[in-house]
Amino acid sequence: MSMEKDTRTIVLIDLDNTILDFNTAEYHALGRAFETLGLPFDAEIAALYNRINIRHWEKLEDGILTREEVLVKRFEALFEELGVEGDADQTQALYETNLSRGHWFMPGAEALLETLSKSCRLFLCSNGTQRVQDGRIASAGIAPYFENIFISEHMGANKPEARYFDLCFREIPDFDGGRTILLGDSLTSDIRGGKNAGILTCWFNPNRKPNPGPIFPDYEIAALSEFDAVLYKAFG
Ligand SMILES: [Mg+2]
Repeated sequence: MSMEKDTRTIVLIDLDNTILDFNTAEYHALGRAFETLGLPFDAEIAALYNRINIRHWEKLEDGILTREEVLVKRFEALFEELGVEGDADQTQALYETNLSRGHWFMPGAEALLETLSKSCRLFLCSNGTQRVQDGRIASAGIAPYFENIFISEHMGANKPEARYFDLCFREIPDFDGGRTILLGDSLTSDIRGGKNAGILTCWFNPNRKPNPGPIFPDYEIAALSEFDAVLYKAFG
């Protein structure tokens, strides 16, 4: 059977915790930064940081904080909660440098990109800092799989803002919203954003978390290997 490239189907894919394992990268980058600065670090502190970090990015999604504020304020909040004297700016800078080096794949991500890049048009849609994401994408060697890469800092808008998606769609030649699907692990940024933008959405939910609502994806998968079947259901 010959694999003919379907030039009509457009797949937008999120990067962090969809293609690359951000949690592992974050843990290592934080650990090295804290070690360099002589700050305490263990799994509990990492988990606390993770909760604080998510809260701060949600404030960005809700338009309460700017990207720059999120990056520094999350460390200010962490140090305050830990009761340690730490320089949030310096920690942020070190953490970003560490994060931009190295990568870990989510299970099945390379196989997914390999298959999809041969069967449809792929675009990477990531909320992130350009410098960090450029480093991680280069480290993982995944740029050739994508027709274009849309990093929110560069776009000047973030998922789930409709403006972010408008800007992406404008840069996709022959864009057809009716043949477009977004795959991502975040209900609040990916799925909410995709739905607002009027395209199909697929929630990658590897830990099978219950969906708290009110954001419901069109499709849900627990393994990236299930996405092929979703595409078939969505577009035939
Ligand atoms: Mg993600």
